[in-house]
Amino acid sequence: KVSIFWFRRDLRLNDNTALYNALKSQNEVVPLFIFDTEILDKLEDKKDARVEFIHLYIMKIQEQLKQVGSTLIVKHGTVDNAFKELVSEFDIQSVYVNRDYESSAKQRDERIKKYVKQSANAEFYDFKDQVIFEASSTNKDGSPYKVFTPYSKKWLSILTSEDYSCRPSESLMEKFWKSPERKVMSLEEIGFEKAGIPFPSVELNEKIVKNYDKTRDTPSIEGTTRMSVHLRFGTVSIRDLVRRSKGLNATYLNELIWRDFYMMILDQFPHVENNNFKPAYDKLVWRNNVDEFMAWCEGKTGYHLVDAGMRQLNQTGYMHNRVRMVVASFLTKHLLIDWKWGERYFASKLLDYDLSANNGGWQWAAGTGTDAQPYFRIFNPDSQQKKFDPNYTYIKTWIKDLNTKTYPKPIVDHKLARERCLQAFKKALGQ
Ligand code: FAD
Repeated sequence: KVSIFWFRRDLRLNDNTALYNALKSQNEVVPLFIFDTEILDKLEDKKDARVEFIHLYIMKIQEQLKQVGSTLIVKHGTVDNAFKELVSEFDIQSVYVNRDYESSAKQRDERIKKYVKQSANAEFYDFKDQVIFEASSTNKDGSPYKVFTPYSKKWLSILTSEDYSCRPSESLMEKFWKSPERKVMSLEEIGFEKAGIPFPSVELNEKIVKNYDKTRDTPSIEGTTRMSVHLRFGTVSIRDLVRRSKGLNATYLNELIWRDFYMMILDQFPHVENNNFKPAYDKLVWRNNVDEFMAWCEGKTGYHLVDAGMRQLNQTGYMHNRVRMVVASFLTKHLLIDWKWGERYFASKLLDYDLSANNGGWQWAAGTGTDAQPYFRIFNPDSQQKKFDPNYTYIKTWIKDLNTKTYPKPIVDHKLARERCLQAFKKALGQ
């Protein structure tokens, strides 16, 4: 009998909760990864950097497993088919996974749980690993927080060292099944190519963490840790980051709490995926002008900080957080374009795309989300530039045609846009 450990968004062998529990069980552990065609088929760009990133880290795991005489099983197809094949090849006693809070993942896991029970009488064990606290720990009187500040206070008040201690899966590597290597298919064999963009290092830069509160809002410098893609795919452990940053910088820890918060929101309020968090905003009439949307996507709005951000995103798959807030506010408030359009565009481009943080960030910017201060916060993109990129260092890095005739004039007047936005929001709320 074997236990299956199924890697999903936890692509590491160290400090991995479900893996640690699987390795502690009495069975040999067969590690599995599935390139799920139901997800991959939806990706339009065959140079999608995220697939390359996953493939790279799968290969690293394979190398580590080889050293202990084991091997990954990597499947390419639907998850259902993969499990059918596994049930016929192995005598499975149990399947171990770390929990995922997206609706589609929850449904998938329910289906596989039933399937392995029916077909192999196997147990499906799931664990908390992606976050420090799930809703069950932070809820107040049984109901989830809807506003960040009280949530973060609660989060900090219940935190103990046990919550971020290591689950030392790396110490039990000999419990993996022994098998000759099974070759992992190449990126090309699953229909993708290298994107050619550099990936941020997986090593946390503690110097950046130390100064984080002073550097995090300056987009022209390396003032943030670039851990987002690693947290997205679990190539670092959230507990490890909390452990290492806790005493160093409270502002940094606060960002990690935002991440837990939006995961909790997505888990507890799954309607946010396609709807306003606050239904009061459902009556809002978006302008949804397609030409203006295209100008925004291409970084051709004539607003320097907005355009620099969009060009950084298009070229690198990354955008600085301060600039994400500015471009999202500009799209939803200056252009009155539905936040879902922007959210989808980010989803197609961001290397660190994560449904919970992206949805949370967009709804926050649009004023339809969990923010305590709603629609009347309208960023002035030029004031934001003066404050956060006063010497044009960031802007000039990304806009090469800034002082040329080809660079567009502003597509909308700030004052007019601001008034128009306030009117539209007031009308929607019946004010
Ligand atoms: P750091 O500043 O070094 O922060 C450390 C970590 O904290 C990040 O890696 C991230 O995991 C977490 N974090 C920081 N800020 C936030 C936040 N506001 N919400 C949730 N977690 C946070 N983050 C994503 O990971 N994926 C997304 O798809 C995403 N989309 C966004 C869309 C919009 C409109 C906005 C305003 C923000 C979005 N963010 C998203 C949050 C934030 O911009 C990124 O996490 C951050 O820029 C990543 O860079 P970093 O790793 O250097 O972050």
